Amino acid sequence: MDVYVDKPKCTGCQHCKDVCPVAVFEMKNRDAPDVNSDHAPANEQWKGQSDPSVVAKWSNVQDGHRHFANDNDGTSGGISVAVNGSACILCQACLIECEGECITITDDSGNTYHSIYK
Ligand code: SF4
Ligand code: SF4
Repeated sequence: MDVYVDKPKCTGCQHCKDVCPVAVFEMKNRDAPDVNSDHAPANEQWKGQSDPSVVAKWSNVQDGHRHFANDNDGTSGGISVAVNGSACILCQACLIECEGECITITDDSGNTYHSIYK
């Protein structure tokens, strides 16, 4: 199993980390040197610019999570990195909860699964 995050679309809501039962995700500060340490393709790596459509949708939403903050404070902020994708058991919890619809999972047969926010 492999997991990666489309980082320009990540709001930093931390839902993925909070719901994952096997600790696939870590929240990194946006300027952390290892912020691109999962297997996201080049066009989904963090280069310092959030996706404008995701910013427009989420920047003013007040749901108790900080969106697009540089630093993670333990509850939200920063950016999600799938540091432990091989542990994924495909429970799909993160795929349902991901605000930015920016998680991709590939199973061992090559099937891919994308997050779709409820
Ligand atoms: S689908 Fe995988 S990465 Fe997502 S919450 Fe479940 S175990 Fe974690
Ligand atoms: S749930 Fe999605 S948008 Fe929220 S921190 Fe995780 S990857 Fe980013």
